[in-house]
Amino acid sequence: MKPVALVLGVLIAWTSQAGLAAPDRIVLPAGVVPLHYDISIVPDAAAKTFTGSVKIDIEVREQTSRIVMNAAELTFAHVALSGVAGQPQISFDTAQETATLTFAVLVAPGRYVLSIDYAGRINDNAAGLFYLDYDTAQGNKRALFTQFENSDARRFVPCWDEPAQKATFTLAALVPVDEMAVSNMPIATRETLGGGLERVHFAETPKMSSYLLFFGLGDFERISRLVNGVDVGVIVKRGDTDRARDALDAAAHILPYYEDYFGVKYPLPKLDLIAGPGQSQFFGAMENWGAIFFFERDLLVDPKISTQDDEHDVTIVVAHEMAHQWFGDLVTMDWWDGIWLNEGFASWMEYKAADRFNPTWNVWLRAMGSKEAAMRVDARAGTHPIIQPIHDVFQANEAFDTITYSKGMSVIRMLENYVGDDAWRAGVRAYMKAHAYGNTVTDDLWVQIDKTSAMPVSGVAHDFTLQDGVPLIRVAATRHGIRLTQDRFADDDSGKAPTVWQVPVREKSLGAKTEWHGLVSRDKPADIALAKSAVPIVNAGQAGYFRTLYDKALSAGIAAHFRALSPVDQLGLLNDARALGTAAYQPMTNVLALTGQARSGMNPQVLANIVGQIADLDALYRDLPGRAAFRAYGLGVLRPLFAKVGWTAKAGEDANVSLLRADLLAALSGLDDPAVIAKARAFFAAYLKNPESLSGDLRSSVLSVVAAHADGASWEQLHALAKATQNSLEKRQYYMLLGRARDRALAGRALELALTDEAPVTVRPAIVASVSGYYPQMAFDFAAAHADEINAMLEPDSRNEFVPRLASGSYDPTMVAKLDAYADAHIPATARQATVKAEAAIAYAAKVRAERLPQIDRWLKKRRR
Ligand SMILES: [Zn+2]
Repeated sequence: MKPVALVLGVLIAWTSQAGLAAPDRIVLPAGVVPLHYDISIVPDAAAKTFTGSVKIDIEVREQTSRIVMNAAELTFAHVALSGVAGQPQISFDTAQETATLTFAVLVAPGRYVLSIDYAGRINDNAAGLFYLDYDTAQGNKRALFTQFENSDARRFVPCWDEPAQKATFTLAALVPVDEMAVSNMPIATRETLGGGLERVHFAETPKMSSYLLFFGLGDFERISRLVNGVDVGVIVKRGDTDRARDALDAAAHILPYYEDYFGVKYPLPKLDLIAGPGQSQFFGAMENWGAIFFFERDLLVDPKISTQDDEHDVTIVVAHEMAHQWFGDLVTMDWWDGIWLNEGFASWMEYKAADRFNPTWNVWLRAMGSKEAAMRVDARAGTHPIIQPIHDVFQANEAFDTITYSKGMSVIRMLENYVGDDAWRAGVRAYMKAHAYGNTVTDDLWVQIDKTSAMPVSGVAHDFTLQDGVPLIRVAATRHGIRLTQDRFADDDSGKAPTVWQVPVREKSLGAKTEWHGLVSRDKPADIALAKSAVPIVNAGQAGYFRTLYDKALSAGIAAHFRALSPVDQLGLLNDARALGTAAYQPMTNVLALTGQARSGMNPQVLANIVGQIADLDALYRDLPGRAAFRAYGLGVLRPLFAKVGWTAKAGEDANVSLLRADLLAALSGLDDPAVIAKARAFFAAYLKNPESLSGDLRSSVLSVVAAHADGASWEQLHALAKATQNSLEKRQYYMLLGRARDRALAGRALELALTDEAPVTVRPAIVASVSGYYPQMAFDFAAAHADEINAMLEPDSRNEFVPRLASGSYDPTMVAKLDAYADAHIPATARQATVKAEAAIAYAAKVRAERLPQIDRWLKKRRR
């Protein structure tokens, strides 16, 4: 899918025992296991219900009178076990989402068929079988899809809903003949039943985990291409095929690349990428084996409304989900504490694949932003080791976070860089081969890479996956060069405990032909001999997951050579300067000494980072007396850059320049630049008369500026556009824009709108999230006051996180107590990671405003003199 601490010794012992359930892990009893599911369902889309029947081949391993399986929101009509007379007693545990069948006799070990007739509901958010409605010229239509990760297959079929309980599946469904039904496997047979109905039978799946099963049904069209003998398709709502071509191209490129990289042929006869209108607050796409589901914005490209960023996202998300077809689907974690390996690996592979087919995008520079996001969370209270104990499936929701995805990606990148591409790939291939159709723990991968690599990797990997936090490498000048020592970087007291990592470090002085690399740890500093004139760059290439703190003289020397550094090292220096400055390791103004060096000829992704640094600082300055002086500085940096880039794209422009333009416009709008606001309004007036007058990137930027600075009239114009359009991508975008208004009353109207039935169901909570961008407290207060209504709109996976996340952009320390009160009323004590993270972010922002911004005030005053 796409987008919590412990005693170390205990954790290592615990994770290295593959296959042994931890004593405090809540799982189904091991005495009965599923081998094959034969499922038949009859959906009633209009009534939002379905009936089902399932025959499960099971193996009873220990004599028992009880069979415990997962079931949620299902009712059982009839249950029978082959060879055992009579109906069992059925009891449901709604908290644990289990059904217990108790038989009057003891069931002896052996194979049986368990038959269950049951009924369930079709949900209005993405959990289990769910529907998405959309407008068309022929009226409103409804499509059905399923979403089971992490543990919602139990809302579709009674099952052993745990990743280690792999089985084969056959699925049949009674469907209208004029709709397309899709599942993991192709349709094997069809029975025409009259009355406009047919029963479709899908071919049997390979052995797989229940969370990967998929079913979809709707008025769809499919475009396809045969790639290496695999039928690769994109399935969309009727009329959307032109928007699906980019995704099909991406998938067709990536499939052979992955077959080669993993050393295993794609094991299914077909691979579909399926687009659904709407969104989730929990995920964007899901790697169901052979039937990947995407919300439309991550799969479809519409030149009229998609931006360059959207186009890059499509390739990256397709690459992510396709990597899971091997890493996750073919080889699966044995339990949810291993989810990082799925997600970290796919998040790394997405960049690797996108870079291979689109080298000019420079996606590894983009990946620096993802690493930075992880390091921010990882330096504060609420962080957790990449591998964390997950007690039950409800806690597993919390593991789908920045640490799992982005720190996981960064650590894998660092380890690949440490052992070398070839050794890494050889280890991955051996791992795939050894564990195909099986389950693993993380150490199973390290074992293989230790075999293929000249450098032992397990020790380093354990340091970075079993401990939380961000290493700090201090760099001090010595008589003959530099000395590197290892410490820990933290924004708050949470990270002050001394921690030992073996950190792979690469040093390459500016302009040098040779480099130094080695492991640095607290008890093993490194001395590097350098020429007197050398400008050392530690973490050269920035593959390392750590912050670098140079002593004062070295820091000044590097800043003086900033424009001579490679773009990736410029990004590393900028990100470290901001983090070290806000956390008081260095003067806060070091970052401004770098941003002040921005010139239009520099790498556009570096300039985009500089634009972001200024926009972030300006947001922190809100309502402070020093803001005007900071804005003068910020506009002084941004305006010359924008003058060079201009409003409209030049022919053959670098994609990253288009992205920079969008960032500049967002930042200048944020800084209330009157020229930008006036020009955007003029573009908007022309757009209202002729929607063809703007497309893609410029349209998105213009609408964003207009929405942020909307008055009542322009807000109503956007509102009218939202209501009128039948394009579901566009509709979602307009409704989100309504939540961007800086005008407090209009932001309040957007919140009220989210509680009406006007916008598509899944878009309503997104409006509230949109308001939280500028008004985190207002959005939080509103959501807290309407908690039951808001939570009912969310899939269960999002309910513990959505409302705390709304508040996380606040810098008002009184919000911490409000969040605590909300959590006490609405969030189980075991699921408060998002709350703790939001509180840490708020407390930190408040501290930076009070203690660090005054340094910038003084610096700016001195500069003016
Ligand atoms: Zn994923």
